[in-house]
Amino acid sequence: MPLSSDEAIVLRTRKLAEADRIITLLTRQHGVVRAVARGVRRTSSKFGSRLEPFTHVDLQLAVGRNLDTVTQAVTRDPFGAAISADYDRYTAASVMLETSEHLVAEEREPSVQQYLLLVGGLRAMTAGERRPGDVLDSFLLRSLAVAGYAPSFDACARCGLEGPHRAFNPAHGGMLCPGCRLPGSAHPAPETVTLLGALLAGDWPLVETADVRSRKEAAGLVSAYLSWHLERGLRSLPYVTR
Ligand SMILES: [Zn+2]
Repeated sequence: MPLSSDEAIVLRTRKLAEADRIITLLTRQHGVVRAVARGVRRTSSKFGSRLEPFTHVDLQLAVGRNLDTVTQAVTRDPFGAAISADYDRYTAASVMLETSEHLVAEEREPSVQQYLLLVGGLRAMTAGERRPGDVLDSFLLRSLAVAGYAPSFDACARCGLEGPHRAFNPAHGGMLCPGCRLPGSAHPAPETVTLLGALLAGDWPLVETADVRSRKEAAGLVSAYLSWHLERGLRSLPYVTR
């Protein structure tokens, strides 16, 4: 079997037969890949805990017709330990993994930008310098932008008229001017719209100044926008505390 090397984040795992697991990975070069890890559920496994969710690994895979097989795994960053130890980090980072898998729907379709966003997001989550909810919302908005659904928080998403505007409509790409406003729009506070723009741009000094009310409102709008574009709810999202 041909071998392939890649680096990856472990997204999820499920049991296969008695001692094996199927590992779903977001790899740097090959997008989402599913691979079998043989014997990984034995305590004597050579993989140890390296193939648990959130772990950043260097992998060697034996390429199969349907599923690849993991032949080697070396830890780059053990993000799982720091994330699992804290409920807020764990729930927020779980949404990051689930979103990454859904946004890179096509298996083996490279998505380097999404991969780099996920590695950067998990690193920020474990560093603990920022609120888990802020790291998550910034990650979600940037992931949507990478996937081609960049929301507009300033100019009107339909006609391009310079903002600020008052109406937010997830189905129509973000803020809408009075002329383009459609039924079903939300009317967030101006501070919330500023915060959303800062989260998308990664303007952390501005994000840090936001109050609790704006954060909560922004989180609700981000999740509405995400659900609309994924055309589904996320299993992990309801667990995030805001
Ligand atoms: Zn307009």
